[in-house]
Amino acid sequence: MRIFSGIQPTGRKHLGNYIGAITQYVAGQDRGDAVYCIVDLHAVTVEFDPSELRERTYDTAAILLAAGLDPARCILFRQSDVLEHSELAWLLGAVTAYGDLGRMTQFKEKARKQRELVSAGLFFYPVLQAADVLAYRTDEVPVGDDQRQHIELMRDIAIRFNNTFGEVFVVPEHRIPAVGARIMDLQNPESKMSTSNASDEGTVYVLDEPEAIERKFRRAVTDSGSGVRRAPGKAGVTNLIDILAAVRNGSPEEIEREFADAGYGDFKAAVAAAVIEYLAPVRERYEQLRGDEASLEDALAEGATRARAIAAATLADVRRAMGVGPNLGVGPPR
Ligand code: ATP
Ligand code: MG
Repeated sequence: MRIFSGIQPTGRKHLGNYIGAITQYVAGQDRGDAVYCIVDLHAVTVEFDPSELRERTYDTAAILLAAGLDPARCILFRQSDVLEHSELAWLLGAVTAYGDLGRMTQFKEKARKQRELVSAGLFFYPVLQAADVLAYRTDEVPVGDDQRQHIELMRDIAIRFNNTFGEVFVVPEHRIPAVGARIMDLQNPESKMSTSNASDEGTVYVLDEPEAIERKFRRAVTDSGSGVRRAPGKAGVTNLIDILAAVRNGSPEEIEREFADAGYGDFKAAVAAAVIEYLAPVRERYEQLRGDEASLEDALAEGATRARAIAAATLADVRRAMGVGPNLGVGPPR
């Protein structure tokens, strides 16, 4: 079984990314043939700083390795190293409905937040994402809940391509975690914790110092009532319960039972302590890995070579099926 997922090198990765995606990446290494990509081409769809993009890519690679990705058991690479992704994105544009792209909530939300330019790249983002996944004939895509709509779209794209040009693609399934698929901002628990939308005090970064984590949870927005339980109107507390459940690999019901008589202050302190302990080993390993940029670059380059071998074979089938390029005379599309 092929597993594929991508993560942006924008900003600093946060607890939502860690719980919703990165822990699933690590687990995926034991479940199948896992391919993970740092999507620097997606990062240029909103305002970004060119002098930082490469650095953030290394940061992200070091976080993923520190979290437990093992290049001996998965393929980890940088999107822009495998040119097939961008060519395939263009070709998939032929079977993507313009109207569907305009309906993507991520596009609408990110578009609203741009100060200067809403780029065409932001509009086309889900097509590049479809290319990332489909190039590897992926069976399963581990992602957070916010990516549901994009996965549906890439399934539609794969099906439309197969119906129009012949069976080339596997139609991927998403894999969304039962707990922690949507970690909310601690200051604004109605919005998801996000890289590009960072309210710094509401976002717990994987690399935050223990003091910062402690402070952010202490100041987390709750409600004027009491009772550690999940309920409508209690988005802040519900989020904290989900976080603690995910970090302990347990269920929200267990947390509610355990803290049935606790006040918000004690509960927040317990969540902070658990998150600090959870992230400490990652931060420690990160420091060692990040210091050796040459090794990170080697690991990414090696990953790209392995990724390219898979993506190039798919691209050859796509070109043949679409009549693009010379007739290489090698068999019908798969
Ligand atoms: P941006 O807001 O700029 O899109 P992001 O925080 O969503 O950034 P990405 O790199 O786009 O970060 O997402 C990487 C993975 O993390 C995706 O699988 C996404 O679904 C997941 N993810 C992102 N935010 C959350 C969250 N708040 N809770 C759970 N999973 C999340
Ligand atoms: Mg995102």
